Amino acid sequence: MCAHSAPAIDFAQPAVSNSLKWALSLLFLLFIVSGGRGLGAPANFKLIKKLAAALEAEVGASRAAVDMGWINHDHQVGQTEKTVRPILYIACGISGAVQHLAGMQSSDIIVAINKDPKAPIVSVANFALIGDLNRIIPEMINQLQSK
Ligand SMILES: Cc1cc2nc3c(=O)[nH]c(=O)nc-3n(C[C@H](O)[C@H](O)[C@H](O)COP(=O)(O)OP(=O)(O)OC[C@H]3O[C@@H](n4cnc5c(N)ncnc54)[C@H](O)[C@@H]3O)c2cc1C
Repeated sequence: MCAHSAPAIDFAQPAVSNSLKWALSLLFLLFIVSGGRGLGAPANFKLIKKLAAALEAEVGASRAAVDMGWINHDHQVGQTEKTVRPILYIACGISGAVQHLAGMQSSDIIVAINKDPKAPIVSVANFALIGDLNRIIPEMINQLQSK
C-alpha cells in the first residue's frame, strides 16, 4: 500500500464538476475570431465565421455586435460575459473598449484588424492589420485555404 495517497477528487460534487467544465471550456478555446460593429452589417458576420472555420477557431463578438442582434450573446467577450485567454485572439472591427479588453487582454497573441490606427485595440495588439476588414479578411481566408 502506498503511504502517500493522492488527494481524492469527487467529480460528483457540483463545485468540482463546474470547475472541470470551466477548465475544459478554456482548454479548447485555442483560437478565437471576434467581430464587432466595424463589420457594418449582420450579413458580414459570415466573414468572421469563414475565417474562424479556416482556423478551426471559435467565434466571439463585442457587445455592440450582440446588442445589434448580429449574433447570440453566448459569443460576447468582455466584462459582462466571457473572459477568454486563447492562444490567438483576432479582433475584427472592434475598437477595444475597456469592457471588451477586460475579457480578452490576457490572450497570448492579439491581432487587431481595424481601419483606425488609433483604436485602443491596436495598442494592446501584438499585430495590427490596419485597413478595411472587408478586404483583409477575405485575403486571410484565401491564404489559409491555399495552404
Ligand atoms: C457596463 C458596461 C458593460 C459592458 N460590457 C461589455 C462587454 O462585456 N463586452 C464588450 O465588447 N463591450 C461591453 N460594453 C460596451 C463597450 O463599452 C463598447 O461599447 C463596445 O465594446 C463597442 O463595441 P465595438 O468595438 O464592436 O464597436 P465600436 O466601438 O463602434 O468600434 C468599431 C470599430 O470598428 C472599426 N471599423 C469600422 N469599420 C471598419 C472596417 N470596414 N474595417 C476595419 N475596421 C473598421 C472602427 O475603427 C472601430 O474601431 C460594456 C459597456 C458598459 C457600459
